[in-house]
Amino acid sequence: MAGSTLAIVWETGMDPMLYASTNGQTPKVGLAQALMQGQAPDKGLYLPVAIPRFAPGELRSLRDRSYPEIAAAVLAKFASRTFPPETLEVMCRQAYDFEVPIEQVDERRFVMRLDRGPTASFKDFAGRMMGQMFGRLRRDAPGRLVILTATSGDTGSAVAHAFYRIPKIEVMVLFPPAEVSPRQRKQMTTLGENITAVGVQGKFDDCQALVKQAFTDPTLAGVQLTSANSINVGRLLPQIVYYVYAAVRLAPEGPILFSVPSGNFGNMMGALLAARMGVPVERIVVATNDNDEVPRFLETGRYEKIVPSRHCISNAMNVGHPSNFARVFSLFGGWLDETGAIRRMPDMEGMRKLLWASSVSDEETRGTIRHAWQERRLLLEPHGAVGWLGLERYLAAHPSSAVAVSVETAHPAKFPEEIERLLGFTPEAPPSLAELEQKDERFITMPADYGAFHRLILDTYHP
Ligand SMILES: *Cc1c(COP(=O)(O)O)cnc(C)c1O
Repeated sequence: MAGSTLAIVWETGMDPMLYASTNGQTPKVGLAQALMQGQAPDKGLYLPVAIPRFAPGELRSLRDRSYPEIAAAVLAKFASRTFPPETLEVMCRQAYDFEVPIEQVDERRFVMRLDRGPTASFKDFAGRMMGQMFGRLRRDAPGRLVILTATSGDTGSAVAHAFYRIPKIEVMVLFPPAEVSPRQRKQMTTLGENITAVGVQGKFDDCQALVKQAFTDPTLAGVQLTSANSINVGRLLPQIVYYVYAAVRLAPEGPILFSVPSGNFGNMMGALLAARMGVPVERIVVATNDNDEVPRFLETGRYEKIVPSRHCISNAMNVGHPSNFARVFSLFGGWLDETGAIRRMPDMEGMRKLLWASSVSDEETRGTIRHAWQERRLLLEPHGAVGWLGLERYLAAHPSSAVAVSVETAHPAKFPEEIERLLGFTPEAPPSLAELEQKDERFITMPADYGAFHRLILDTYHP
């Protein structure tokens, strides 16, 4: 934890506890402000202006630490001015009271299961820490804070659970009813109290566009709005931790390979930041479903968002214009604005050296779930299967002696029909999911129309 040296990404001598927008048009801010604002005023995304680096031997020294201890050590490098290290340790213990299993598949390949949190998806890692951070920052502040979030499946439920019953915080979560599974929906609609669920007649991108518009709408200035989406930097930092954890446990001296099933690219940004911090990452395999705008970009250097996004069985990855790609651009010296226009090309060679992308169809996803189970007794759900096939393709094309970790982002029990059809049995639900069946649902339905959304916000929070 002690004595880390700093490697500078953007400018020499910059402070890693300051956050700058990817659009570069607004002043740099501290963490508390970046957390509260969500999106920067210039519509960019916040990133730390410098990436702190692990000191030599530091990863090895963390070997016997628990997940919460490693989380506190990593987060302190970005956040200790806002949350003192002792406070961070308490926050991490409270947030991470669940297992992080790393399952060995064969000699060098592993699956890291990020599905043991309250909503059984990796979104819990960020959500739980955001709940801690916001709860602490708001303790003595006046009024209530309204968190607006758009979800294509799992973010919304993780955010709802992360902030459920946190004093002085309200959550409104927008979701496309046709694109989320009944179970994903129930995770958002059965809580009540400070959680308001809104079904938008449209796609995830419509939900995201409504939320983005609300954040820049001056007529909503009377409501204290913020986001907890994957655009909030508070989601990003906790997503670095499990990559560090895997490296500490499996290969502190490296090399290590990660395969990340990706939609909005927040998870993969965590791996990228871990690499920049000095985790000895050989390559990050970026695995997408048919929404292949990023694999195409890496291939051609042209970025063409997919509108509307394509509907695949890995539904939490149905994103045709991933907001976090602007951050990826930034880290490689480029500038992608919020409309998806390239304002400055990134270092393509550097990007291709670290990132290797592959797009996986639904048929291939299903085939992978079947083969992984039949040949290795490896149980995957659609998102994790996309990651696993991405890894297999990478290893088939590149000789590598690295330890390889594929990330499983949801619990297979969240996709009972698909698994039953493919494997002939229904995976056992963890307790957090099993309890949902008995609960009552409540949600509002709304057209994908900003006027309607605007009225709903005012009616709900400004009586
Ligand atoms: C959100 C989500 C993803 C995609 O993560 P991004 O950070 O948006 O790339 C993958 N799998 C599951 C289960 C998810 O919920």
